[in-house]
Amino acid sequence: MSYNVYKVREDFPILKQTVYGHPLVYLDNAATTQKPQHVIDTVNKCMSASNSSIHRGVHYLSEIITEEYENTRKKVQEFIHARHLHEIVFTSGTTSSVNGIAFSFGERYIGPGDEIIISAMEHHANIVPWQMMCQRKNAVLKVIPITDEGELVIEDIGKLITRKTRLLSITHISNVLGTINPVEKIIPIAHRHNVPVLIDAAQSVQHIPIDVEKMDCDFLVFSGHKMYGPTGIGVLYAKERWLEELPPFQGGGEMIDIVTFEKTTYNQPPLKFEAGTTNFIGAIGLGAAIDYISSLGLDGIGKHEHELLEYATGKISELGEIKIYGTSKKKSAVISFLIGNIHQLDAGMIMDKMGVAVRTGTHCAQPLMRRFGIEGNIRASFGLYNTREEIDVLCTAIQKVKEMFR
Ligand code: PMP
Repeated sequence: MSYNVYKVREDFPILKQTVYGHPLVYLDNAATTQKPQHVIDTVNKCMSASNSSIHRGVHYLSEIITEEYENTRKKVQEFIHARHLHEIVFTSGTTSSVNGIAFSFGERYIGPGDEIIISAMEHHANIVPWQMMCQRKNAVLKVIPITDEGELVIEDIGKLITRKTRLLSITHISNVLGTINPVEKIIPIAHRHNVPVLIDAAQSVQHIPIDVEKMDCDFLVFSGHKMYGPTGIGVLYAKERWLEELPPFQGGGEMIDIVTFEKTTYNQPPLKFEAGTTNFIGAIGLGAAIDYISSLGLDGIGKHEHELLEYATGKISELGEIKIYGTSKKKSAVISFLIGNIHQLDAGMIMDKMGVAVRTGTHCAQPLMRRFGIEGNIRASFGLYNTREEIDVLCTAIQKVKEMFR
């Protein structure tokens, strides 16, 4: 069955509204995505019919909600093709997953002079937690450079790795440049030197099929709200070995086995890493989002989004006076740009008045902005419900900005 974007749009109630009298054109999907009715209904149903504390009660509601929560873990496992169910840990999102690993990994393995490698295109969520850990442990943060097109300089990875390198953490897809990094090449390079790899999949899991077994990453992290699910829920995938070896990053209820005032022993993974009452309703909502994405099929979604990217890149470039940041050969549906020397914030505000929601600023990637010598830019990022007509409206809005500043 061919992909019918107009039918897909019917599933998203928020898209039906107007903004300042114009139909909403939502092009800020890399920041967060809108929710289909199925996710809204699932969360509603949880709150109105099955809410109860998970894993703790023997009563009816507790058993129902626990089963739904654990079923979702299974859905995530199948979605990213993890070998074991207990390799899936629920967190509050990508940021908390990276912070958790940076803490636990730092406690267990990092000493003075050890090195962590990230890249020049990372989101702050994949920079700051490592920096904090390096400060705590007197370790060193190293950075893989990028080209002017926004591609990683792969040849440099081998040179950056030394006997002191303990971990490599990189994004799968850049939230600013759209670059799809060749993780299938990078992970084997790191593994040849016995360096484990964390993949930030916040911008990839909603666009391309992920197979962690094939990819052979050690850790993979993502957020529910960027994949049409609720906020406040995310995933930390880790190979079984790591979840066994690493200490927990938070203490409290659920993550324990036996607690005395002298000593505590911990639960088995994944619960060892799920301290306290988790966002179980969010997790079940994430399960509904996975069902929704799977019902459309990531292949169809990817093809549709790629067509949008090509159409938008062509049309925006034709407008003239546009500089696009991120021209990698393998790109996801994100276009970051500047219009002449017009300030990105001014442009964003004018576009907003025409109903066009784009992101302006540094996109939580200040070092990347510095790399390109700019303060910030405008980002249009597409999702499974965007249309060519919306890109035409985006182009009209860009023209309007140009006219106003002429
Ligand atoms: N990494 C990347 C590549 C991102 O795009 C984002 C969100 N913009 C994050 C990490 C952080 O995700 P969250 O805010 O959901 O924790």
